[in-house]
Amino acid sequence: MKVFVMIGAPGAGKGTQAAILSERLGLPHVASGDLFREAVRLDTRLGREARRYMDRGALVPDSIVVRMIEERLDAPDAAAGVILDGFPRTRPQAEALDLALGRRGARVDAALYVGVPEEELVRRLSGRWLCRSGGHVYNEVSNPPAVPGVCDVDGSELYQRDDDRPETVRARLEQQLPPMYDVIDHYTTQGVLVAVDGGQPIEAVTDALLRAVAHPAGPGRSEAA
Ligand code: AMP
Repeated sequence: MKVFVMIGAPGAGKGTQAAILSERLGLPHVASGDLFREAVRLDTRLGREARRYMDRGALVPDSIVVRMIEERLDAPDAAAGVILDGFPRTRPQAEALDLALGRRGARVDAALYVGVPEEELVRRLSGRWLCRSGGHVYNEVSNPPAVPGVCDVDGSELYQRDDDRPETVRARLEQQLPPMYDVIDHYTTQGVLVAVDGGQPIEAVTDALLRAVAHPAGPGRSEAA
């Protein structure tokens, strides 16, 4: 089982990159935020619990997230591995993931950090649009669709997430950046962290990530241009 962890602040482009890597590496893209949004949409017990936190831009408690991810790791399509996106977001989640993978004879092969300066994150998030049917991601400034409001890939309607409003964006960054730095520390200590400059064009970030996963891990690597 090959396990890659994507790390990046909201808006860093890690979801976009995870989707591309998923296709290029043939591994499922497991995004904790997507799993929660699906649970909310289906109004499951998990969805109702998670929603209380998501609505205010807060993190869902670790115990709930870890349970959900463990279930996902045991799905048949995850047997060859996964690209985790949005999880782990805290040090306890990273430690829980190590244990869960250890029980399955696996480990995190590489933690891929897509770094982008904070002021750029706010600018990007406020311009983010998603498509209704496939979750394809656009940005008014850096990655606009050919026709405003319409998905290039499947023609469905584009919408803005409730938690991409500027006040919520700042709350999300304030709450989510400090634990993210703990997660980066965790994987730096393990020698599996790869830092990539997320300010580059999408293709350049992808190339840097693919170069990184093609080579065995070594401490303190940086694939930044
Ligand atoms: P995302 O789509 O990754 O930005 O996630 C949307 C929301 O889901 C977050 O703002 C959190 O409320 C929740 N969430 C997703 N992943 C996690 C996680 N690993 N730990 C805690 N909460 C999470």
